Amino acid sequence: MIINNPKDLVEKIQKKKEINFIPTMGNLHEGHLNLLKIAKNKEHFSLVSIFVNPLQFSEKKDYDNYPRTLNNDLNLLKNNGVDLVFLPDSNFLDDSDNIKESINTEPLFKRLCGIDRPGHFFGVTAIMIKFLKLIKPSFLTLGEKDFQQFLIIKKLINKYFPKTKIILSPIIREKSGLALSSRNKLISKKKIKSAVKIFKFMELISERIEKSGLEYSELKLLQKKFLNEGFDKVNYLEVLKEETLGDLNKVPSKARIFLSATIDGIRLIDNYSIRKKVVLEDKTIKKT
Ligand code: AMP
Repeated sequence: MIINNPKDLVEKIQKKKEINFIPTMGNLHEGHLNLLKIAKNKEHFSLVSIFVNPLQFSEKKDYDNYPRTLNNDLNLLKNNGVDLVFLPDSNFLDDSDNIKESINTEPLFKRLCGIDRPGHFFGVTAIMIKFLKLIKPSFLTLGEKDFQQFLIIKKLINKYFPKTKIILSPIIREKSGLALSSRNKLISKKKIKSAVKIFKFMELISERIEKSGLEYSELKLLQKKFLNEGFDKVNYLEVLKEETLGDLNKVPSKARIFLSATIDGIRLIDNYSIRKKVVLEDKTIKKT
């Protein structure tokens, strides 16, 4: 069942209990389908949206080039037992409201993708507010792949939609370790070999931290080394506290490695959770 109009959607889901909302931008792959699988396994009413949100793209070219494969997406969703698909019309955002203003000062916006994609998270929060007000889901299923986005949406939910619970899916990867992403299709076969190194590199950094500790200054050297692996640009390579994206310090904290690199003009992101809690002591990142 497909719905385009917000009013029809509200009518349709009025009496549904345990709605599990799964927002996507389409060009679906196993990563997205795992979100649906989670909702199905919990016997929730699964509602998947497909909408390429213009507000979250900093460059028009990136928005125009974003892969759109609607027919295939709809087939995949049907075959995987989706309950309802919401395909908003292009005028969906015309009357958007501005709650985003009150959370845009969060420090989370000023880290990682917030730096080299100005406006991106404003666009993400604007569309999420729109969706959440309309759907009022009991559950929202998101992927760990967009970890910063998850943290920002978590803040938004805690503040404005406390009845909605977030469910987080692990990152679904190819055998090579490459995180599935709609953007992978835009990368040439030759360059995909470099893209695979993103995961390998994070694995290596995690191992170093766990085994011998990693001098903080070495992280910058590693970033330069990584650039020579066939990338146009390394947008960031950072090890940050998982809950806040704050800098590491002497307080033992769960931490993640965050890496974004551009290849063939395509910007990829990934992250890797370090198993043990870590500290930054004597200018070295160490496990505790
Ligand atoms: P997108 O269509 O890229 O906006 O992603 C929609 C949702 O799917 C987001 O919650 C993403 O984090 C999630 N997602 C995308 N790729 C993956 C992946 N490889 N593994 C798990 N979740 C993913």
